[in-house]
This record gives sequence, C-alpha cells and structure tokens, in this order.
Amino acid sequence: MDGSLFGLIRSRIEDPAADFLVEPDGARLSYGGLLERSGRLANLFVRLGVRPGDRIAIQAEKSVDALLVYLATLRAGAVHLPLNPAYTLAEVRYFLADAEPALFIRRPGQEAEMRALAAELGVPRIETLGADGGSLAAAAHEQPAEFDDVPRGAGDLAAILYTSGTTGRSKGAMLTHGNLASNAETLREAWRFTAADRLLHALPIFHTHGLFVATNTILLAGGSMLFLPGLDLDAILRLLPRATAMMGVPTYYTRLLARPDFTRALAAHMRLFVSGSAPLSVETHREFEARTGHRILERYGMTETNMICSNPYDGPRVPGSVGPALPGVAVRIAEPATGATLPRGEVGIVEVKGPNVFKGYWRMPGKTAEEFRPDGYFITGDMGVMDEAGYVRIVGRAKDLIISGGLNVYPAEVEAAIEELPGVAECAVIGVPHPDFGEGVVAVVTPRPGEPAPDEASIRAALRDTLAAFKQPKRVFLADALPRNTMGKVQKKVLRDRYAGTFVR
Ligand code: AMP
Repeated sequence: MDGSLFGLIRSRIEDPAADFLVEPDGARLSYGGLLERSGRLANLFVRLGVRPGDRIAIQAEKSVDALLVYLATLRAGAVHLPLNPAYTLAEVRYFLADAEPALFIRRPGQEAEMRALAAELGVPRIETLGADGGSLAAAAHEQPAEFDDVPRGAGDLAAILYTSGTTGRSKGAMLTHGNLASNAETLREAWRFTAADRLLHALPIFHTHGLFVATNTILLAGGSMLFLPGLDLDAILRLLPRATAMMGVPTYYTRLLARPDFTRALAAHMRLFVSGSAPLSVETHREFEARTGHRILERYGMTETNMICSNPYDGPRVPGSVGPALPGVAVRIAEPATGATLPRGEVGIVEVKGPNVFKGYWRMPGKTAEEFRPDGYFITGDMGVMDEAGYVRIVGRAKDLIISGGLNVYPAEVEAAIEELPGVAECAVIGVPHPDFGEGVVAVVTPRPGEPAPDEASIRAALRDTLAAFKQPKRVFLADALPRNTMGKVQKKVLRDRYAGTFVR
C-alpha cells in the first residue's frame, strides 16, 4: 500500500483547473500546472541520477519553483532538504557534508566557491535556481510532464529539516511521509480547511511552518494560496481582501497592528488567523481582537514533532495558551529527571508521542536516544503547564529557565507581567551570572511607539505587587528592538551574551 504524502495530495485534486498558487502579480498555477511542472522536475531528478531515498538539498530564495522542487522530490521518492537562504558558505558546507545529497540546488552567485565545495564534498550534481529560473528550470523544461510517482511507505523519509541549533551542532530531523501526512490531515480537520480556502502565505518555505503547516494543509484541502515571496506588509494589506485565512509568526501580527491601515473592515471577511513558532503575547492577542474582532488561533509545535497543540477552532481560544493536544497526539507534562507525569497545574517538561513525531536525528542515534523516553515519548525541551481542561501554556525552553538563588524563574511569567505595563511593547527575560544568586534576572524591554517610554525604576516598582521578589528583574534595560531570527523567535543567547557582565565583571 502506497503511504506516500504525494499520493494523498494527488487523491485530493478534484479539478485540475482549480488554483493552487496565486502570486502578487496575478500569475496563477493551477493544480494541473502543479502536476505538470513537478512532473518535469521529477523526471529531471531521475535523469540527474537521483534515486529513491537520496537527499536533494536546496538553498534558494522563496519562489514557486522552489516549492515545486519540494513536491517533485516527494514524487521522485527522494528526501527534501531545504536550507535557509541566509546560511553562509561555511554553514552550507556542514549541511552538505552531513547529508551527502545526490543533488544540490543553489541560488545563483558564488559560482567558483560552490563548485569547489561540491567537488570537495563529492556532491555529484549541482544546479542553480534563481529569479529567472536558472539551470534547473531550463533543464526541467526539456523533460516530459508525465511522471510515475515512486511509491513510498509511511515510514520512509520525506524530508530532513535541520534544527536551528542555537547550541552545538545543528541536527537533521528526519520526517517521514506518515509524519507529514498525519499532521496535515489533523490540521486540515482541526482548522476546517476546505477547497474554498485561500491562504495568505508570507512565511519562508525552508521551515516547518511555511512548508508543512501551511502548504501541506492547503494541499490536502485542495485549497489555494496567495504566495508572497516574503513578509511584505503592503502586499499583505493589499491581498488580504482576497484571502480567507492567514498563518504567521507573532511578529507578523505585531507588525500588522502597527499599521493604521490594518482595519477591522479589511479583516472582516477573514475566516482564520493562526499564529505559531514563537509565543504570541497576551497583549497582542487582545489588541488584535480589539482591532479586528478576530481571536488569533495560537498553536504550538516544533520541527521534530510537527504540530502538537492547538487552540480550538470552535470553543475558547485562550490568550497565552497554546491549547490542548491535537487529536491523535498524546502530550504530557513530565518531571524532567524521570519523565513521570506531573499533576495538572505543575510546571514540567512537555513530552509528546504520536504519528506526528519524527523518526530521529539524521546519523545521530545517540542524540536521538537521549531525547526519547523508554515509553516512546519525545522530550521537547520546552517547559509547560497543563490546566484541568487540558490547555497547555508554554513557559519557555528548559535551557532558558533561570535559577536565581536556587529558585526557578520561568521567563514567560515575568515577560507577561512586564508586557502588561504601560509604555511596554515587548520584553525578553534572561538569566545572567550573578555572584550571590548564581543567576540574576534581567529584563530587556522595548518601548511602545507613540507612548511615554517606561524607565527602569517605574518598571521595577510596578512589579513589586505582581511578582514574588525572586522573580523580579534585578536590572531592566531598554532596547530599540529584540534580536529575533527569521521565525520571530527571540534569540536569548544573543541577549545573554550582551548582558553577561551586568552583575559580574
Ligand atoms: P522550530 O523547530 O523552529 O519550529 O522551533 C520549535 C520551538 O518553537 C518549540 O520547541 C517552542 O520552543 C517554540 N514554539 C513554537 N510555537 C510556539 C508557541 N505557540 N508558543 C511558544 N513557543 C513556541
């Protein structure tokens, strides 16, 4: 029995003339066009020597062609390996050496260096893909459109996504056809996607959010996407009237709210706004509702596990919570040392089990074994708490947990308290070395534009009534912006380095 993701996608195509992608300039790609163009690419991959199970690495700017490379890779039975276009040559070297792809599709430029790298690492084939198509598109054009999809089992690899790896070596998360198909099906149902949906897609496609959560869900619904090359607020505001749903990281929503022309009328027809990949602040959730009448649906997941929790489509969407476990996904809050399930209301490590959970880290069996419990639960590394109704709140990464004077301080709690204060736009709380307490709590705050800027003394004074003394920041610094990566995650390591000398010299 074919368990391939593309087999499932194909089974959902009812009308080949229906739109799959619409670009900002009005260019359209129908489902028939998807089959044709991905068929040509899949034929090319086979001709270039790619065999089932081989990796096809791609580092290219977001484009329709780049998305079709993903689908063609699935059809050829190969393994999709997308790389962030921001990665440097040195970083690309690591990924190519580790993954040993049969084909590397790269953006134009750095010709000599790239060729030398491929030769040195023994990557047999290299093609370019740029705004004008590049060598890949030209070669694909010569190929037939018909392609017999390579059958795959649910346990076969569909993709390897390297985790951002803020500490140590970046790890390749191996995702199977079954992982991706089951999660996309679950999300389609949970968020009620149908062929009538048109999703505004401004996310990158090298990451689980834009590639799997957005694209696979739409494909299984037979819906379409307004496909933007990146986060362009003017384009989003212009295209929003033609969309039914939008997915974004929290930064997208804070940036939309900063635009006075993002109005209630503009969003009135929308069916759904989804947020994930980083915590959506209670403030933003409330402000968005006040402005548009929509309650953003916040969900939680990670590269290794696909989506884990989601606020409900019908039923209460609780600000500050990521909702209960998705159907078919088991979540527990566990004691970090033992994996024993903790009572509701207690903070512990979030652990997850289900068909959504990846197969392991590429060529790292030891690392993989460390992150699974003997009973099969994956240890996410996030700290969280579950209430009586099963709703989960994420309180931060375990490695961001602050231990001050022997007491645990969960950054999310302090951040939420500070973000409630007047004049505060955003806040990040970190622990830095402290001679007495081991770690001292430090808050970094960005002021809200157009309002009187808060100062350290007023913030610290305001927290005296809301937070226990050991949780109160010992220093508060103002900054113009918080350092964030492309997925909107605050880079706490950058902040820890920046403020490392606050209490010790
Ligand atoms: P990535 O593998 O890049 O998708 O990153 C996954 C991590 O992002 C998770 O382990 C969480 O730490 C964080 N994350 C994702 N969604 C949320 C959310 N809704 N709230 C808080 N953290 C989130």
